Amino acid sequence: MHKIDIELVEMTMDVMKYAIDRLSSTQSKIGKPKSEAKLKELIGETVTGKGVGGEYAFNLWKKHLMKATVPVDHPRNLAFVPASPTRASIMFDLVTSASSIHGAYWMEGAGGIFCENEAMRWIVSLTGLPEGAFGVFTSGGTAANLSAMVTAREHWRKNDAFKREKGLIITSIGAHSSIKAMAKVIDVDVLLVDTEDRLRGEELQNAIKNLTESERKRLFSVVATGGTTNAGIIDDLKGIAAICEKENLWFHIDAAYGGGALAADSVRHLFNGIEKADSITIDPHKWMFSPYDCGAVIYKNPELAKQAHSQEGSYLDIFKDEGSQGFNPTDYQIQLTRRVRGLPLWFSLATHGTDRYKEAVERGLELAQIAGKLITEDPNVELVREPSLSCVLYRRIGWQPEDYTNWTYENHRKGFALVTPTKWKNGDTFETVSRFCFINPDTTEQDIKLILDSMV
Ligand SMILES: *Cc1c(COP(=O)(O)O)cnc(C)c1O
Repeated sequence: MHKIDIELVEMTMDVMKYAIDRLSSTQSKIGKPKSEAKLKELIGETVTGKGVGGEYAFNLWKKHLMKATVPVDHPRNLAFVPASPTRASIMFDLVTSASSIHGAYWMEGAGGIFCENEAMRWIVSLTGLPEGAFGVFTSGGTAANLSAMVTAREHWRKNDAFKREKGLIITSIGAHSSIKAMAKVIDVDVLLVDTEDRLRGEELQNAIKNLTESERKRLFSVVATGGTTNAGIIDDLKGIAAICEKENLWFHIDAAYGGGALAADSVRHLFNGIEKADSITIDPHKWMFSPYDCGAVIYKNPELAKQAHSQEGSYLDIFKDEGSQGFNPTDYQIQLTRRVRGLPLWFSLATHGTDRYKEAVERGLELAQIAGKLITEDPNVELVREPSLSCVLYRRIGWQPEDYTNWTYENHRKGFALVTPTKWKNGDTFETVSRFCFINPDTTEQDIKLILDSMV
């Protein structure tokens, strides 16, 4: 190696100090984007022939660029699906980077993949899937859904009768946009059952009954949602499972957001039927307190995923010793070269224990109930529906869509809170309403009160 470079040591200390400051600060403001032109004006040229130097570039980051990002873990960031990575997981994300591990093959990544698999075993145990079920960490829910849909389609196409058929899947309008987007990627059609509320077995059965003969032939999978992103609604997994079994359809459950709630005893029963799934998506970077990015796809029969995804490069057959043989994450999802992105989760689970995860998820559920109560007591606002998982939809009585937009903008401008409106289907029309999604267990009742009080 080269002699130790004093500048490099200083840079390392600076970066560590930044990371520690960022991890320990609880009162940070919520950053806000600026236009690209405005950022360019502030930053100037940074990628040049000779470089501008790490210290200079890092100062630009701290002074301007970092402030033009929205911290997803802020306790008053309740927009979309926020996040709240544990300190242990963030610290181990740094270790993951520093260790330069290629996470596609056991041969190169054994130590890291071993840890990922320990964490995965816990996640799989939450689902109640039978012995033999297993999964792999992906870049997120979208990649997990895609990996599962490819597996389902390839499995279906093993039958000569379907080799040349274009596939069809059924889901509901409550499903996440990534289901439709990934259906495009694999060129299958999607039939949407017209309910944003809980998709029930009978509705699915009716949808199947109404298919033409050729559509029925093309139907190979049903996608249910285990916690809709918009409202936290869990489909009737048990009823849907029974129909999938009867109709011989692949049953995928997208629990990217809601999956964390499998750890919470108070709501676990709402997921009954999940143990019948053929595949499940869960995003540890949403409600399992992992840093971005970390999704997971789990299969009842991982061998089917391997048949669909294994890339089998001929240059991979050279490793003969026993230690190099093992679980190859690349075989079970779409990506080859990959970060061992389950490693931070493993370290955090090992540090805190799974009980703490249960408690942290229960707190998110409790915050939704607290918000529901505060909304009921406040004459300015009313619930659109009862809180479900950690999502709360409510309206400010008398507000028009632009009032919500202005309010969101004002709170964000002040660095106070990020709460964004959404739409909820009300009869035949879509109503603009306000929405909370709780993930961060450090959000307080006072935070919620202050946000509601700002709706004057
Ligand atoms: C967030 C989400 C996704 C997409 O996951 P990414 O990690 O953003 O790719 C898919 N499905 C549901 C239900 C989600 O909430």
